[in-house]
Amino acid sequence: MSKISINIATGSLQKEEIIVGIDLGTTNSLVAFIHPETKKPVALKEHNSSSLVPSVVHFDEQKNIEVGEEAKKYLLSDPANTIFSAKRLMGKSYNDIKKNASFFSYKIIDDNTESLVKVQVGDKFYSPVELSSFILKELKHRAEHIVKTPINKAVITVPAYFNDAQRQATRDAGKLAGLDVLRIVNEPTAASLAYGIGLNKEEEKTIAVYDLGGGTFDISILKINNGIFEVLSTNGDTYLGGDDIDNMIVRYWIQQSGINEKQLTDKEFVQAIRLKAEEAKITLSSSDEFNGRLNELTLSIIRSEFENLIKPLIDKTLACCSNAIRDAELKTKDIDAIVMVGGSTRVPFIKQSVSRFFGRPVNDAVDPHEVVALGAAIQADVLAGNNKELLLLDITPLSLGIETMGGLMDVLIARNSKIPNKASRQYTTQKDGQSGMRITVYQGERDLVKDNRKLGEFNLSGIPAMPAGLPKVDVLFLINADGILLVKAKELRSGIEQTIEIKPQYGLSDTDVEKMLLDSVTHAQDDIAIRALIEAKTEGEQLLEATEKFIQKNANHLTQKETMETAATMQSLQLALTMNDKDLIHKKIEELNEISRPYAERIMDEAIAVAVKGKMV
Ligand code: ADP
Ligand code: MG
Repeated sequence: MSKISINIATGSLQKEEIIVGIDLGTTNSLVAFIHPETKKPVALKEHNSSSLVPSVVHFDEQKNIEVGEEAKKYLLSDPANTIFSAKRLMGKSYNDIKKNASFFSYKIIDDNTESLVKVQVGDKFYSPVELSSFILKELKHRAEHIVKTPINKAVITVPAYFNDAQRQATRDAGKLAGLDVLRIVNEPTAASLAYGIGLNKEEEKTIAVYDLGGGTFDISILKINNGIFEVLSTNGDTYLGGDDIDNMIVRYWIQQSGINEKQLTDKEFVQAIRLKAEEAKITLSSSDEFNGRLNELTLSIIRSEFENLIKPLIDKTLACCSNAIRDAELKTKDIDAIVMVGGSTRVPFIKQSVSRFFGRPVNDAVDPHEVVALGAAIQADVLAGNNKELLLLDITPLSLGIETMGGLMDVLIARNSKIPNKASRQYTTQKDGQSGMRITVYQGERDLVKDNRKLGEFNLSGIPAMPAGLPKVDVLFLINADGILLVKAKELRSGIEQTIEIKPQYGLSDTDVEKMLLDSVTHAQDDIAIRALIEAKTEGEQLLEATEKFIQKNANHLTQKETMETAATMQSLQLALTMNDKDLIHKKIEELNEISRPYAERIMDEAIAVAVKGKMV
């Protein structure tokens, strides 16, 4: 069932649901959508205010939450309760970030270093997913207030280098904020789309996306062909950005204006001078000099001095560009376009340096702060079905997997995985002497294959006779850059193999994809229950089979009482399997285990004793 939204302003039914694009940034976040009249992407903002919402969350003593500009004010006065850069923690364990722990002025839990990090605020713990969800919730509310329509669906962007855990965390944050996240899109892909690159299916282009934000630098090399965005390489520095430029200006002023050591221990003074430095930097993007005051201090800087200061930082980013181009096995001349992203690329000297490095003008016509969100809005519009001829893919829209015992979906490549991609997993036979194995490939998010879409099947035949569980069948999924899935099954002991080719994405319209995603949310609860029941049944069947075998083999080691008790319990487990009650099945499995454990251990010990004896002779 799809939802119908009501326009709260007019009370009328909203026929087309708005799907927004969200740039969830480390420093700033924002929302964009396709304007229903102009059909052009626009960033949402209240009159006379910025479209940017600082990605900062503040908790007051009552644990009331403030997000954005309001929260940013507390960075200095209440650092322990003011969380910034939560994006850096997404999908990370303490081990992953401990090298940079001093960067965070709030408390990050460091006791259980292997598990995902949590942030402590007072006596409460928040996961980065929750923290990000607060930002997303705020963005959702603002957007709803502006467009006067409920917003339930979104496309959210992430850096191209985000791994599965980080993408999943971002998706979960969206879900927590009450958003159905239709797709996670790479930031550089979105930025390219905002420039219309990749919108023409025929064109084949290689582009570089240079993204210098508040605290991070990313360079991504993309290849675009047939509407498919392939990430050829990424590089960058996760601790290099506009904040470092501000610090360079602060250091320059310290040298110039005789600021003494004592002033530098005053946190409030340091923060004030940092803010001045940011102001100077922004001023220098459009004028040749900056003249400011802080109390009795005169703080000024001219553009040429500023450019000298930041040259080493720019050189560092260009070295990353060289590495990315090398990793993509390309030369600078192979790059067809350079897209500038992130607030810091407003600095003219940075634009010039990047342009000189690549030997061509850069694309900077779109606001570098908004470009990612605008591109996400374009992608959202495509998913909404308003741009039918286009199917943009740089990730798999639905999970791909095979059917396993009990009709369960075993996912090999999860939804939203980057393409090209490959994954493999080993399976084995259920029966002694089984000579064939049917591989059925499905696409979808539901736990039972019958609710997903079948893409194809084949038989791996000619497996040499072996006891159940001994053959090793390696199933490999390979999606190439064209979105074509190749499935290969190989029995490793005998070397026999079989392959099929499937074109998964082209068979499904975006509406189909959307429906399947909606279904997976609506039915998640049923699916969990059914999955639990099937797993219980499978476990029960396997236990019965194993016990049966064991008894046959060791009949003369068992007492009569043991044999009888086992038979009776097996029978009641068999009966439980015919009823759809997973708790009952678990209970019977437990009972059978209880009965067999003592003699199984005893027989094992005897076997070991014999083996040890054998060795000693
Ligand atoms: P992120 O992607 O990390 O969320 P943004 O793209 O929002 O970051 O960039 C924020 C950075 O851009 C800040 O360091 C800010 O000072 C800087 N910035 C904003 N406007 C300008 C400007 N006109 N000139 C130079 N830097 C700017
Ligand atoms: Mg950004």
